[in-house]
Amino acid sequence: MVRALALILFLAAPSVVLAAELPIFDAHIHYSHDAWDLLNPQEAVAILRKAGLKGPLVSSSSDEGTQRLYAAAPDLVVPELRPYRRRGDLSTWLRDDTVIPYLEERLAKYKYVAIGEFHVYGADAELRVMRRVVELAKQHGLLLHLHGDADALERVFRQDPGARILWAHSGFESPSRVRDLMRKYRTLWADLAVRSDQASGDKVTPEWRETFLEFPDRFMVGTDTFTPERWHYIPEHASFSRAWLADLPKDVAERIAYRNGEALLRTLK
Ligand SMILES: [Zn+2]
Repeated sequence: MVRALALILFLAAPSVVLAAELPIFDAHIHYSHDAWDLLNPQEAVAILRKAGLKGPLVSSSSDEGTQRLYAAAPDLVVPELRPYRRRGDLSTWLRDDTVIPYLEERLAKYKYVAIGEFHVYGADAELRVMRRVVELAKQHGLLLHLHGDADALERVFRQDPGARILWAHSGFESPSRVRDLMRKYRTLWADLAVRSDQASGDKVTPEWRETFLEFPDRFMVGTDTFTPERWHYIPEHASFSRAWLADLPKDVAERIAYRNGEALLRTLK
């Protein structure tokens, strides 16, 4: 009897350990055409599950990758619509009018939580394609996942003061600048993809700590699989995130780790 009980406890142990691990919502995953060649949807989903992800926010060039991944794991994958059809589109999309019917067609066919991630800087935010993207997001109730500078961000907020923006990489701005903008815009969230300045070793820096404590509901972590090879880095990035998040109060760490992503990004529209 004792031996049987010990055996049961032994067998149960790994899942107990796994359940205790902080879940991560990774708000910055791409599954673009060159990634499909490297990993089929089942292999990609296996990596996401191995990383202990509660959810990944996924976009791709073209959107076909996102749809394939979503079909393979609809309980896990959160789709967002990227305005790019090929990898190179990030430098040309704002001056390419064919982007608009492409987005309209996808929005009519599938459900998403956001449009992005897209790249826009400064006055380019006034271009026709960008203005239409802002309108489409408003019309469909979607977030804008914007990779760009504070100038572009503010121009989008002027076009639609009610816009909800997820600022990719927190704009690679300093924590105090991010904090100032969050004070100014109540519907600004930010991911921390491809940043490591928030912590030195596993210790969160004083400037970032202040910012996280003032706005615990506005931040999310993200890997950014900007090259296909980075898919293999997703579990390691989740571990890296858990390590520095452990230096924050538990409720703040949980929000940044996954609760904010779940609250903001789980409902498809
Ligand atoms: Zn990205």
